[in-house]
Amino acid sequence: MYTLLIDNGHGSDTPGKRSPLLEDGRSRLFEWKFTRRVAQRIVELAPQYDIKPVILVPEDEDISLSTRATRANSYIRSNPGEKCVLISIHGNAFGKDSEVWMNARGWEAWTTVGKTNSDKLAECLYNAARKFFPSDTKFRTDKSEGDQDKEKDFTVLKKAACPAVLTENFFFNNIEDCRYMLSYMGIDAIARAHLAGTVYYFTM
Ligand SMILES: [Zn+2]
Repeated sequence: MYTLLIDNGHGSDTPGKRSPLLEDGRSRLFEWKFTRRVAQRIVELAPQYDIKPVILVPEDEDISLSTRATRANSYIRSNPGEKCVLISIHGNAFGKDSEVWMNARGWEAWTTVGKTNSDKLAECLYNAARKFFPSDTKFRTDKSEGDQDKEKDFTVLKKAACPAVLTENFFFNNIEDCRYMLSYMGIDAIARAHLAGTVYYFTM
């Protein structure tokens, strides 16, 4: 049994972080709702993967990035026997204003700068994602270090006391990606990619 610490990004009070209006002129994707739908689906599917899911942000409101890391680390400290990884779940947007439709699309994962076990976890997530996402999915990668992930010192990743990856699960200001992110099929596939990637990390 492996533990997946789920950092579902943002909150109902986060400004921006929403898609343009859809064709009906009313509905749109909110990133905080999307990350909570994915987290919920991970919880539902976790037993199939023999994974213990831990939701770090059960509330709807946003909490600071360092509080997210603090919650992860206090869980790790209080459960010393467990094998933990942390995944921070996000949706992507291109450009300054996320309420404008753009062409950029696809999936990517980030780790902190430098070579750690987080790079191995990211590689496993890319490999799982390639299994679960539609065949025309665009995978955004940085091959300069011989693996696929992109690197930046995000607060949550930097402070986490276990391997940690941030996933940008498609672009909500790309119309095709946004439809996928709003679909049950999309949420299900994203959840499964996170679970399978975690299993690969611990078993391969
Ligand atoms: Zn985000």
